[in-house]
Amino acid sequence: MTETMTPATQGGRDQDFLAPAARLRGAGIGGLEELTDIQRSERLARMREGTMGSIHSWELVTAVDGPGTRMTVFLNGCPLRCLYCHNPDTFLMKDGEPVEADELLRRMKRYRNVFRASGGGITLSGGEVLMQPAFAARLLAGAKAMGIHTCIDTSGYLGRNATDEMLDNVDLVLLDVKSGDEETYKKVTGRELAPTIAFGDRLAAKGIEIWARFVLVPGLTDSPENVENVARIIERWGSVVSRVEVLPFHQMGTDKWDALKLEYKLRDTRPPEPELVESTRAIFRSHGFTVH
Ligand code: SF4
Repeated sequence: MTETMTPATQGGRDQDFLAPAARLRGAGIGGLEELTDIQRSERLARMREGTMGSIHSWELVTAVDGPGTRMTVFLNGCPLRCLYCHNPDTFLMKDGEPVEADELLRRMKRYRNVFRASGGGITLSGGEVLMQPAFAARLLAGAKAMGIHTCIDTSGYLGRNATDEMLDNVDLVLLDVKSGDEETYKKVTGRELAPTIAFGDRLAAKGIEIWARFVLVPGLTDSPENVENVARIIERWGSVVSRVEVLPFHQMGTDKWDALKLEYKLRDTRPPEPELVESTRAIFRSHGFTVH
C-alpha cells in the first residue's frame, strides 16, 4: 500500500480508539517483508524470541496515539472481546502478517527526524500489544536505543506479560479503563477488571506516564456511577496520569464484524450526544484531571 503522511496540522482521525478500518492514511504493511515461506515451527520459535511478530498494519498519524507524529503499529491478537471493538480483525494472532522486528525498526529509524521535529515517536497498539511481549519488548528497546519516544496502547489485562525491563523502555502508556466495576467491565469486554487496575498500580509505582482512556457507549458504559468509578480507579494512580481521554462510541466497525460473520451487539446503539460527552468529561474534570 502507499505510504503517506498525515499532515501535522490536520490531526489524526475523528475517533481515537478506532484502529485499522478508519485509518486510511499510510495504513497497511506496504514495504514490509512478508515471510510466507518460513516453516510454521520456525516462525513460532521466532515469535517466541520476539524477532518476528504478527501485525495487522502500521501507519503514521498525528495528534492521536500519543504526542506528535507517530508510527503506530497494530499487533494482532487480543484476549478481550469488547462489544464496541472496531478491530475485530485483530482478535486472532494467526490473522496477522508475519513481520521481522528488524524490518520495523529500520522503518522507525527512517522517521527519526519526523518524530524528533514533532515531539512524536512510536506507539504499539492492537489488538493487544502484550499478547506478543517478546516482540514488543524488542521493538521498544530498539526504538529507545535510537532515542525515539515510545508508547504502548493497552487494556492492561495482560500487564503481567510486561517485564520490568520492557517497561524501562516505555515512556507513555495509553491505558484503557473500559469500565469502573467488575460487572460492567465483564459485560463490555468478557474479562475481568482487576488486572488493569494492578497494571496501572505498577505503572504508577514505576513513575511511567499514563494517558487513561475511556470509551463512552450510551446504555453500556455511560452511567454516572460507572464513570465515577472509572475516575476513582484512575485517581489512585496519582500524578503519573497526565490526561484522561473520553472517546465517544461510533459505528464505524460494523462492516468488519459482518465480514467476519461475528455477532455485533451494538448495531442499534447510537453515538453519545455532545451533552453526554461533555457531562462525562465534567466528571473526570471534577477529579482534577486534564480531560480530552
Ligand atoms: S481491547 Fe477491546 S477494543 Fe481493543 S482490540 Fe481488544 S477487543 Fe478490540
